Amino acid sequence: MKQIALYGKGGIGKSTTSANLSAALSEKSLDILQIGCDPKHDSTRMLMHGEWIPTVLDLVRAKGDANLTVSDVIYTGYNGIRCVEAGGPEPGIGCAGRGIIATFQLLEKLEALYGDVIVYDVLGDVVCGGFAMPMREGYAREVYLVTSGDFMALYAANNICKAIARLSKRAKPCCFLGGVICNSQNIKDEYELVSEFAGRINTKLLGFIPRSQIVRIAEVNKQTVLEYAPDSEQAGIYRQLAETIMKNTPDPAKKPTPLSMDELEKLAQKYITA
Ligand code: SF4
Repeated sequence: MKQIALYGKGGIGKSTTSANLSAALSEKSLDILQIGCDPKHDSTRMLMHGEWIPTVLDLVRAKGDANLTVSDVIYTGYNGIRCVEAGGPEPGIGCAGRGIIATFQLLEKLEALYGDVIVYDVLGDVVCGGFAMPMREGYAREVYLVTSGDFMALYAANNICKAIARLSKRAKPCCFLGGVICNSQNIKDEYELVSEFAGRINTKLLGFIPRSQIVRIAEVNKQTVLEYAPDSEQAGIYRQLAETIMKNTPDPAKKPTPLSMDELEKLAQKYITA
């Protein structure tokens, strides 16, 4: 079972990337479970044709975890993809990772944590005190950083990289940096900037997703690009990303090297010019 986690700043397009990636993986006849962890709980919405599924945290609050069954928490979406939303705290109240950990524990108890690939879609903002929890607990085995060339997105990606670097010093590290995915914001020299960032943190740029109107059109039609426009160029890009990630096996000996704030600023200054 491959356990991959996509981390990135809120609003960077992590859920769109995760849902399209899951859809592309499902085309390979793989059994996919996607788990979203974000207070917006919209990770799986496009796979569910716009339906907001109940979050595990809300269900636990309403019914108590002892009374929950698999059908309460797992919903089957596009192409048989099993969808779960961990949920999150009320705005302004951090959950310090309790939401996602409660979800994992419940799924384990229900024997539902299985499949060929588990895709975790986790908010990696600095405001989320719990983002490192899935890595620490060994659920997020391969971490992919979703960023753009925007400075704050790189800042968040670098912070997540710091958490992986810290955990990689353990006697038995259980999570590894898989690479960087650039979800383009059409920023000048973005490819070069994000490629250099990836190299500097000792990994590689695994995929560059160009900004495309078809993503927004598919979203208003409550579908992933893979479903809405399967023959589009953008669908091909998500398929290529799925292919790359499936073939990727992070080298445990290759430790991430996060940048200092000064280094990150200098890197941004090199590319972000008038
Ligand atoms: S772990 Fe972080 S992103 Fe997830 S619900 Fe808790 S505070 Fe939010």
